[in-house]
Amino acid sequence: MTLDETLELLAQIALVDDRVVKVDEAEQRAQLTMWAAVLRDVPLRFAGEAVGRHYAESAWPIMPKDIAQRWRDTVRDRLNRSVGTIEPTDHPHLDPDDDTGDAYVKALRAHRRAIATGDDEPVGLRELMPAVGSRLGGGRLAELVPANTEFTEAKQQRYPRREQPKGPPERAVHCPACGASPGRPCQTTSRGRQMTGTHPSRRDVYDAAQSTDSKGDQS
Ligand SMILES: [Zn+2]
Repeated sequence: MTLDETLELLAQIALVDDRVVKVDEAEQRAQLTMWAAVLRDVPLRFAGEAVGRHYAESAWPIMPKDIAQRWRDTVRDRLNRSVGTIEPTDHPHLDPDDDTGDAYVKALRAHRRAIATGDDEPVGLRELMPAVGSRLGGGRLAELVPANTEFTEAKQQRYPRREQPKGPPERAVHCPACGASPGRPCQTTSRGRQMTGTHPSRRDVYDAAQSTDSKGDQS
């Protein structure tokens, strides 16, 4: 799954469990990077199903390893179940009567590779996972949470939170003392450490902006 898909997955998870996605923006970025790395080989649709299965069985917040583990189990399961089930009809270039030749071995290897990566379904898999699979039908995560206006707003609100700087309201403006950009926390001028408060001159700028005209540009 790509970085964008991981972002989508995290946004979806945030809607069903607000304990998972980090609140702090820097932590969110680190979390996204970590999840994307762990789930690189996992298709988004599978991950969405794995999330559903996790919450059907567990009260714990889902971790990327939970999804990765389910994927590894599924891959192993797929490979085990696919042994000897190659369908000649799926490989029209094969002569079904000649199953001793190189072509057969090659096709079998390609078939196993495809199954391992999820490009192909082993015989019987579809029948074995109808509960979640068929409901999710068209793939992606559309049915996990309907993508209506409410969802779009919730996603916007929860991830990422760039438009909603946390901390003191004066963070909305540029700090003349330490040079912090709008939305970023002030830093100590001597050692560059992040401050929980803000510089007095930044508050002055903010107050001035509020009293004259805030123009509504909070970011
Ligand atoms: Zn400052």
